[in-house]
Amino acid sequence: MSVNVFKVAEVVSGRVVVSKKARRSAHELACGLTSLGGVDDAAPESGWRIEITTGVGAGASSIELPLACVLSRADLQISEREPLFLDSEGRVIFFRSRLLMPERPCVQISDREEALLRAKKLVYDEELELVNLRKQVANAEATLEYRRTGPKREPIADDVKLVVWARDGGACVRCGSTEKLHFDHVIPVVKGGGSSPENIQILCEQCNLKKSDRIAF
Ligand SMILES: [Zn+2]
Repeated sequence: MSVNVFKVAEVVSGRVVVSKKARRSAHELACGLTSLGGVDDAAPESGWRIEITTGVGAGASSIELPLACVLSRADLQISEREPLFLDSEGRVIFFRSRLLMPERPCVQISDREEALLRAKKLVYDEELELVNLRKQVANAEATLEYRRTGPKREPIADDVKLVVWARDGGACVRCGSTEKLHFDHVIPVVKGGGSSPENIQILCEQCNLKKSDRIAF
């Protein structure tokens, strides 16, 4: 029988912040965490605080409880790479600042292994989604910037000019003129042409104008 795992909370600056979707499990998580004893060589950063709300509506009140340090220094380090159960009953998993709970306590080794794998996948999916989101936002920003300012015209580097000059014999590649010469982008910058020697040629002013006319019309 498979064991599903849910993310219940995240530890943010030492506070256990229960996610909105997991409010129902908040009480269970609080019970799980408050029943934990301290550990040897405890990491002080793992002495979290958790907010517990009692009552409902206007009569509700909440208090913030300090928890015992639930992780040793070594385990806190390991938890960046591997999820681990905080309790022997297999109710609470900690991985990369997230607190996750299996749908039922995991005592059997096979259950525990599966729950840890699912916890890993869930957290990695969440992190990958964030990575993709960042990329999408960066792309959108670049597109907007491009629309606003147009393509960035990189100056042609001096060593590229030297290479092109030598290759083209210091003359217009169309008519052989040696007057009023320009370094021209074969594929225009607006069409994505770069400034490497392969895309640069020497044209005289007249040939350059003829070429721009052809592209413009
Ligand atoms: Zn020419």
